[in-house]
Amino acid sequence: MTEIFNSTVLETIESPSLLTVVENVFHTQHQLNVVEKLWASWYAYMQNDTLATGLLFFLAHELFYFGRCLPWYVIDKIPYFRRWKIQPTYIPSDKEQWECMKSVLKSHFLVEVFPIWTFHPLCKSLGISVSVPFPPFTTMLKEWALFFVLEDMWHYWAHRLFHYGPFYRYVHKQHHKYAAPFGLTAEYAHPAEVISLGAGTVCFPILYAYIYRDLHLFTLTCWIILRLMQAVDSHSGYDFPWSLHNFVPFWAGAEHHDLHHHYFIGNYASSFRFWDYVLDTEAGPEAKAEREARRKAKAETAAKKHL
Ligand SMILES: [Zn+2]
Ligand SMILES: [Zn+2]
Repeated sequence: MTEIFNSTVLETIESPSLLTVVENVFHTQHQLNVVEKLWASWYAYMQNDTLATGLLFFLAHELFYFGRCLPWYVIDKIPYFRRWKIQPTYIPSDKEQWECMKSVLKSHFLVEVFPIWTFHPLCKSLGISVSVPFPPFTTMLKEWALFFVLEDMWHYWAHRLFHYGPFYRYVHKQHHKYAAPFGLTAEYAHPAEVISLGAGTVCFPILYAYIYRDLHLFTLTCWIILRLMQAVDSHSGYDFPWSLHNFVPFWAGAEHHDLHHHYFIGNYASSFRFWDYVLDTEAGPEAKAEREARRKAKAETAAKKHL
């Protein structure tokens, strides 16, 4: 077991319960904050880091994915919120939500269990730390920002490729079953898509750890949770006045991705709007009209030059 901290008290108790471990850590490790204490308790209780990391990842994924989908399910049931629904004529039925949930759960167990259970040995070989205390918050913030930018780049190009002929027909078509998405549809996708788009979330931190040899598993866990929240929210189907993209104009949000599902073309990025803006792949009739107006103006300028 990794030396997460020095606790001789726990070593004297045979098979302590999780509660006993938590109590001990809270009474002896005063230098740690609450989250660090809980994190340390988990690893101390599990006594097996591979199992501890594997279970932590699996539970965090299930808890935060379905936990984040639940408020959207409730919101879909309350007519008051319809004024902010991007495609208000379509409200998912319980049957659709249930079918989607079953498929996502199947994918979680069949596709995602294997990488989750082999993750700790990989972390160890890359020097990803599980010990406490955690790195400074500013370090985590910088790493999350970097992972968001890199994942968005990966997502833009991989997603754009998925809209090409055979890739769309045999793989990405499944995700486009719902022209008006709802929270649960975020991970409703073909296993090949789950793996290839998921690579953008996991592979950049791995590469970062490989290069810098300085990444904490807590930073990585939080990053995956943040990315899960972003994916579910962008499929929510709601654009509130308080939605993040109204304050941070380059943040994509639901309004951006809903248009992608509605028109099947354009708005390929996940978290930000700059790739679609710069490469002129914004979705929707407004973007199309602007694009055409730009092309017309360009052609007219070229024609004037030749006169
Ligand atoms: Zn698509
Ligand atoms: Zn989608």
